[in-house]
Order: sequence, then C-alpha cells, then structure tokens
Amino acid sequence: MLNLFLFVKDFDYIRIMRILFISILLLFSLQTLASEGIQELKDSMYNRQGKPSTYGINYYVNKNSLDIIKEYEYLIDTLYDVYIFTDNLKETSDDDLGEFYIPDQIVITNQEKYIAYEFRNLSKFKQKITLYNERTVKAVIFHELTHAYVNQLIYVMKQENKIVSSEYGALRMFPNPATRFGAEFIEEGICEYAVYFLHESKPIKNNVIPQTLTDITDGINRVNILYVYSVYVLQNFLDKYGLKKGIEILLGNKPPTPKEMLKPELFFNRLKIN
Ligand SMILES: [Zn+2]
Repeated sequence: MLNLFLFVKDFDYIRIMRILFISILLLFSLQTLASEGIQELKDSMYNRQGKPSTYGINYYVNKNSLDIIKEYEYLIDTLYDVYIFTDNLKETSDDDLGEFYIPDQIVITNQEKYIAYEFRNLSKFKQKITLYNERTVKAVIFHELTHAYVNQLIYVMKQENKIVSSEYGALRMFPNPATRFGAEFIEEGICEYAVYFLHESKPIKNNVIPQTLTDITDGINRVNILYVYSVYVLQNFLDKYGLKKGIEILLGNKPPTPKEMLKPELFFNRLKIN
C-alpha cells in the first residue's frame, strides 16, 4: 500500500516536471519569436540609410494617425473628421510630402524622403542642425492637419457671417498668381508655425531675410519665402493672439502684397482686428 502510494507520487512528480519543462520551453520559444517579430518590425521600419522606409511610413501612419489627431486637438483645437492616408505622391506633386484635399482627406507620401518618424527620435545635435526640407513624418502630418484646420475655420467663419478675404480657401482650385502668393505665404506660414508650436521642428530662425522685392518674388527663393520666412514673419503675431484667434484675424484681412512681405510692419499695421 505504501509502495503503491509512493509509485503514484513519483509518477505525478515526473509528469509535473515534464509539463513544467515543456511549459518553460514553450514560453521561452514564444518570447524569442515575439522579440524576433519586434526586431523584424523594427528593421522593416527603416531603410539602409536608417531613414523611414516606405513599409514603415505606411505602418506608422496607419497605426498612429488617430493618436496624432488627438494630440493636435488637445494642444490646438478640435478638428472636424479628417482621414489620413499614405500614397506615393511622386506622380501627383513634384516636391510635396503631403497634400490636403478639401474637405477631409490628407495624403502623406510614402516615398523614403523623411529624416525620422518624429522629431524627438533625433539626437539633440541633429535637431539643432535640421534644415527646412528635412522633415519628420509627424511634422508633415501636423502641417497638413493645419491646412484642414484653416479650411475648417474658413467654413465656420462663413457660417457665422464673418468676413473671409476671397483669396483664402480653395487656393489651389483657382490659381490667380497675383493674389495667390500672399495667401499661400500666410497659409503655409500658419501651418509651419503649428509644426513648430507642436515641437516637431526646431525653433524658428531665419538665416535668409529678403532684402529686395526681387528676393521675395524670385522663384528661386520660393520655398524659403513660403515655408521659412513666412513663419519668421508670423511668429510674434501668432504668439500674441494664439493660433485660432490669429488665424481668424489673418483670414479676415487681405493677404500681404510682396512689398508688405518685405516690410511686414506695413502688413500688420493695416490688419483689422475684431
Ligand atoms: Zn502646406
């Protein structure tokens, strides 16, 4: 009787040890598989130059766009529904990394042209020396969300019978070069200010300040004027009024002429602030 009992006990003991051993083995291989999976995902997020890969850009936007919209809403203002997709924008626009299509679609290019997914992923040193055209995926999303926000404010202002200067809105649909430039200057400046405000670009500093009217209108300076100098001009104004109120004031007034872009105080002095 005692012998039999011992036998059963031994048998259970062996069985338990075996189950335990198999479980540990299984757990260990599951963990290895998982970490291999994570490593594989990490690897596929970057190309050979260590920059965001096309696969990674699609994955990042898909996975994070709702959180990025939430962050925007928390720090700036509520947005109407807006949908963010990725595509290869090479065919549709030459240099643009993102496009906003009225009323609610944003397309971010999945070409391998970004320096990182997010600004905080860059070293402090790299953050300091980034140039305007070195963009993060998140910066381009914030920029395009701000186009959506400007469009939303135009809509709301019109609903409230507030004046919106006719050059704003549907910019790309009715290109009139004479007035388009000033309106683009303001709108792109606002978008870039928002990117800076949301810490996705380095503090605003302009190294190339235009000295003559030709510096403003010469096509060769276009990117600097529309995306860098514009923020430099708008920064104090938007710091003072905040994004929402600031945008409303800007939209309610005629955009600056090239002369006013050169001497911004002429522009700010004539703004009607209501
Ligand atoms: Zn833009």
